[in-house]
Order: sequence, then C-alpha cells, then structure tokens
Amino acid sequence: MVVILPKVSYCHQALQVLVRSKKGGFITKNCLTCNVPRRVLLSDLPRMTCENCCAIMRNGYRGKNYCSSCRACGFEFEWWSRLPWYFEI
Ligand SMILES: [Zn+2]
Ligand SMILES: [Zn+2]
Repeated sequence: MVVILPKVSYCHQALQVLVRSKKGGFITKNCLTCNVPRRVLLSDLPRMTCENCCAIMRNGYRGKNYCSSCRACGFEFEWWSRLPWYFEI
C-alpha cells in the first residue's frame, strides 16, 4: 500500500511517502521531490482500520520494527511488510 503522510518535507515542502528502505524491516519517510529518506516516528504512522474486524488499530513495536495491532481481534502487521521499496516509488 502507498502511504502519503499529511506533513510535508521541510527540504521541499513536498509530500512524503512511507517506504521500505533496508532489509530487516527498516522504513523511512521519503520526500517525493528529492527522495531523501528521513526517520519515521511512531507518531508519523497513520492509524489503520483492522481489515479483519474494522476496529481502529494501535501502532507500536514488535521487536525493533513498527507494527500495527488490533486489540479487538488480535490481527497485526508489521509496517514494512505492507510498504513498497524506496526504488518502487
Ligand atoms: Zn526534498
Ligand atoms: Zn481486528
């Protein structure tokens, strides 16, 4: 899935997109103008709706990786697994 963040980049005031940047589940937010990667904060991640039960999911960590989990039904995913690679954008 393609996730565009509501906050623009400070380098170009451009939209930023979440991408997979390295093996091991590492993700960054990349400026759509210059493609420079920046660190993703937990607060950058949008809150997703559970695809299983439609509850609002919570963002957190699984190990070092960001994940989103549903308290209602237990469904969860790691963010990197849903994002395109940086070179696919
Ligand atoms: Zn930029
Ligand atoms: Zn659920």
